[in-house]
Amino acid sequence: NWCPGCQTALSDIEVEYQEREGKLYYIRYPFKNKTRGKGVVVATTRPETMLGDTAVAVNPQDERFKDLEGRKLLLPLLGRELPLIYDRYVDSEFGSGALKVTPAHDANDFLIGKEHGLRFINIFNKDASINENGGKYQGLTRYEARKKVLQDLKKGGYLEKIEDYDLRIGRCYRCTTEIEPYLSTQWFIRMKDLAAEAMRVVEKKKIEFIPSFWKKNYLQWLENIRDWCISRQIWWGHRLPIWHCGDCGKITVTSGIPSQCSHCTSPDIKQDQDVLDTWFSSSLWPFSTLGWPEQGEKFEKFYPTSVLCTGWDILFFWVSRMVMMALKFTHQVPFHKVYIHPLIGDERGEKMSKSRGNVVDPLDMMKRYGTDAFRFSLVALRTGAPYVRFSDDRVRGYRNFVNKIWNASRFVLMNLEDFKPEGRLQEEGLELCHRWILSRYESLVRKVTLDMEKFRFSEGANSLYQFVWGEFCDWYIELVKPYLVPTGDPKSRYRAQWVLHYVLEGTLKLLHPFMPFVTEEIYQRLSGRRDSIMISSWPKEEAREDREAEEKMSLLMKIIQEVRMIRSEMRISPQKKIELLIRPSHEDKLTILKQHKSYIINLVGASSLLIDRDLSRPPGSASSLVDGVEIFIPLRGIVEIEKERKRLVSAANDLKKKLMLVKKKISRPEFKTKAPPEVVEKKKKEEKELRMRLQRLEKRIEEVS
Ligand SMILES: [Zn+2]
Ligand SMILES: [Zn+2]
Repeated sequence: NWCPGCQTALSDIEVEYQEREGKLYYIRYPFKNKTRGKGVVVATTRPETMLGDTAVAVNPQDERFKDLEGRKLLLPLLGRELPLIYDRYVDSEFGSGALKVTPAHDANDFLIGKEHGLRFINIFNKDASINENGGKYQGLTRYEARKKVLQDLKKGGYLEKIEDYDLRIGRCYRCTTEIEPYLSTQWFIRMKDLAAEAMRVVEKKKIEFIPSFWKKNYLQWLENIRDWCISRQIWWGHRLPIWHCGDCGKITVTSGIPSQCSHCTSPDIKQDQDVLDTWFSSSLWPFSTLGWPEQGEKFEKFYPTSVLCTGWDILFFWVSRMVMMALKFTHQVPFHKVYIHPLIGDERGEKMSKSRGNVVDPLDMMKRYGTDAFRFSLVALRTGAPYVRFSDDRVRGYRNFVNKIWNASRFVLMNLEDFKPEGRLQEEGLELCHRWILSRYESLVRKVTLDMEKFRFSEGANSLYQFVWGEFCDWYIELVKPYLVPTGDPKSRYRAQWVLHYVLEGTLKLLHPFMPFVTEEIYQRLSGRRDSIMISSWPKEEAREDREAEEKMSLLMKIIQEVRMIRSEMRISPQKKIELLIRPSHEDKLTILKQHKSYIINLVGASSLLIDRDLSRPPGSASSLVDGVEIFIPLRGIVEIEKERKRLVSAANDLKKKLMLVKKKISRPEFKTKAPPEVVEKKKKEEKELRMRLQRLEKRIEEVS
């Protein structure tokens, strides 16, 4: 694999293949003895390479070419004499069944050339222009030469026909120039044995891939490995440790710098000009960075390393080769775990590239949304697919999350000015909301810790998001406010401060790997310490799980949410206090609700709350049933009934229309069969939500009619 752009050899995996429409040209090569037949037709996608042809090969089984043994052909345009050879590797099905053989510019032809002792004629310069072996085509680029050769073949009557043909074009992964099979002297590493070892350690689970499906790719690649071309004709890189002798012509290979030839002791030696493939140098990275070949303190302490974290695109370039080199030189695996992450794609999950114009500049993202929000987005985006779907919206959403954390922390800090965190929490008689948040925090610690251990970073990030926003900020901070009143019971205030401090500090530590900057800033203010949060201890579980508190809170939260929902459906302004009546079906629920009456009153904006198993529904009230608990909100004096009824009817009609549209879309047969499953799922969810909202509105309409 020669890149005429970089003018160096490349390894197989540095070539990227691309499908393209092309042509297949049928060219007649005449017999030397023109009196006996018209010659043989060969087919090729690259007519200019005929300048390097040194034979025509056919399959010995092919009836069409029987009795041609020993015949000579003439290469059109150049008049070179070509032998007709029989080789069983020739594919009779391809083209005309006869193969032009270009040993210097085709890997398969190279083998045929070796087998049959053919001439190897290199027709290209290093930049893939035609050299002196190309006769009058010398100096043309390969593309110019192709045109000119075709013109001349046509003129000479050699071109039999042209067919459409799909080509697989290899391009340089660095500069995208078309790769040229090119005869040059290069250094290779024999891979079979190295690969076998590298497969063995993975099969024996000495190295584990996360996610585990990458193991299969790794093994498959090693299974089919070919020798690795490691010499490059470029300037930068480690030079090959090879010295050529000017006297005897032999080579000296050594790790030091030799002063003489190891064969004839001549001092006339010169180091090879080639450098190593940069991936060769990188393959030594796990141990060369630790002082190898010396096995000093660093090497002893850190080798083998624990986790390698990298993208899937360099699994073969880098990961597999590090494993091979480590086993070869240190006789140990270089690392025990390989965490493979996806690459960042655009919103549709496609690769970012400059030519597509869908590239996101990380510095720009950080400037606009903050580094924490950007980092958190990258972690929170789902893994599994090769490209994560990255969009501004997600980062914007997480910027709001960072702001939420900042604001909540400011609230906490404001209320902790007189608080000393040294004391212990008096667990006895602890109020329900504290017991609840401690229990929720406890399960967060367990979950995030496990997610980190199992490399499930996005799950960890999402759990943190749910807890901080959905529980700590939305509920706990609201519930805790009454206990913080400076004029209230000092013991009660201390308990609230203690829990706030404890939960916030622990949550910051859990959040720190996901958003390092804002958590450090808040931590410094919260603790008054000078040590970084980075070296603080990771939160531990402290057996604060409290099922009972969670169940009680769950009931209270459902009721509060339901009342808030009705308020918003009936457009009751937040300033307006409502009367609330609650009728529980069971005694135990009655007890819970009565005990925590203040939570409900504070969080729904009620002027009064009546809880009774025997109360009857007041006329003209909105109502709802939650977990066997009936809720009534008298509407008289709160909303203008007639106006509200009209509004509800028209809102319900709008919903009906929307629902119709969604239903229509879903029922279309082509939607069912052709739409991607996630879109179908989304539409179905939308339909369900619309139906529920409509049901609720219809109930509200009934209540005000
Ligand atoms: Zn290149
Ligand atoms: Zn020598």
